[in-house]
Amino acid sequence: MNTPTAMVSLAGLGVRYGAVTALRGVDLRVNRGDFIALVGANGSGKTTLLQALHGMVAHTGSRVVSELAAAQVMVFQRPFVLRLSVANNLRLALWLAGVPARERALRAAQALQRAGLVALRDRPARALSGGQQQRLALARAWAIRPALLFLDEPTANLDPSAKREIETLLTGFKADGMTLVMSTHNLGQAKRLATRVVYLERGDIRADLPTADFFAQHGDGRTEQFLRGELKWDIE
Ligand code: ATP
Repeated sequence: MNTPTAMVSLAGLGVRYGAVTALRGVDLRVNRGDFIALVGANGSGKTTLLQALHGMVAHTGSRVVSELAAAQVMVFQRPFVLRLSVANNLRLALWLAGVPARERALRAAQALQRAGLVALRDRPARALSGGQQQRLALARAWAIRPALLFLDEPTANLDPSAKREIETLLTGFKADGMTLVMSTHNLGQAKRLATRVVYLERGDIRADLPTADFFAQHGDGRTEQFLRGELKWDIE
């Protein structure tokens, strides 16, 4: 078997917010082709870990990024869309990413198609539903062709059909060869989408397993409690 290629490696990484330790001694390697689901109770450090992987927070310990992961994008839980049409949100993102003018129109059209937004292209983006805005955020990310995509609870607050649409898009991104890391409170979603599950508790990684093994394992009592939904509100 080929050795997996590391895209981002964290070693002994810690993040503090004043008196709060959000992450402690985290060792994590994101490999090319992974679809990692970060799971854990509220406040366990999922968002902070995404931010640390993406280089958005001050930390102790080390973060090494491979050249392969130079193009990386983060999609936030509440996507920000600008007061422009759907198509212009895409074009602006491509312009900001430095995509040459001659390519922008084509890439924007492909992204609209990909995310099922062609019919909405001229609508003001802020008038879209939550699910449509999330699809626009994913289209904007995809248009930039990142090798690595970070997603913070991409389907939070969406209805079941919008959730399914987002999951279908993400499955397609994975099939294209994109590497993804996503935080989620939805264990069914982790099971459906992820190749690997990383379970966090109070800023610590307590399990990092292939998805099937994570859901099959019953060795660690607290992980099992979490899976049963008994560790939901663990804010400290
Ligand atoms: P949730 O599931 O509720 O989104 P999470 O697992 O993503 O939570 P984080 O948002 O990473 O958890 O938070 C980890 C810890 O760091 C929590 O105790 C949180 O209160 C704290 N924290 C996060 N961001 C900040 C901040 N900007 N300032 C102070 N404390 C913060």
